[in-house]
Amino acid sequence: MLEVEDALPLVAAEWMDAGADKPTVLVYGHLDLQLVPEPEWETNPHEAVRKGDRLYARGAADDMGGWVSHMAALRAWFEEAGTLPCNVRLVIEGEEEIGSPNLERYMDAYPDAFEADLMVLTDCEALDAGGHSGLWGGSDGGGLERRGLALHPEGRGLRGGGPGLGDLPLILDGVMDLATTAHGPNESLHLGVFRKAIAADVYLLDEIGALGKDGLG
Ligand SMILES: [Zn+2]
Repeated sequence: MLEVEDALPLVAAEWMDAGADKPTVLVYGHLDLQLVPEPEWETNPHEAVRKGDRLYARGAADDMGGWVSHMAALRAWFEEAGTLPCNVRLVIEGEEEIGSPNLERYMDAYPDAFEADLMVLTDCEALDAGGHSGLWGGSDGGGLERRGLALHPEGRGLRGGGPGLGDLPLILDGVMDLATTAHGPNESLHLGVFRKAIAADVYLLDEIGALGKDGLG
């Protein structure tokens, strides 16, 4: 249990016995849950109820289901192989639902708890109940930092060039809101005459679109 002042505790755990030559995977998730809008529940939200292939309970999707799947995977490795193929760090914070206001303070206070070659998010959409919808990203070559997605503004906690991670594709993409206002001529201008002198707003928008597609990844 890690603590910083005026913040809810953060649970961290690690298993580093795979050795220094193996990559370290950081599994991030949260233990706090959304409030329960009681009238909308057909079953007791504080008790897991199975209906067919689905489990209904408060936080089953966000974020307990993710954690259960990772815990099951870790247990299966230990039961079958007696070990893990990589080092594993777990970080379970308690303030995600209020915007993780102290996560960076935790990174500053406990940088070792976040040190990893690859990060797996338990906190993501499940696109298909029968398929895998995990999100993960690595820092190989500074990919996360380059995309502005590092957990920490300076990329702390994710070291580049992790051993054995060179071939892993980076599939963690972020959410970006881009508000664009384009100012152009306030009346129609003949393109043949004014093209070189005045940038048509439609071309500006096209350039911005290309920046989003090719420049930002
Ligand atoms: Zn969540």
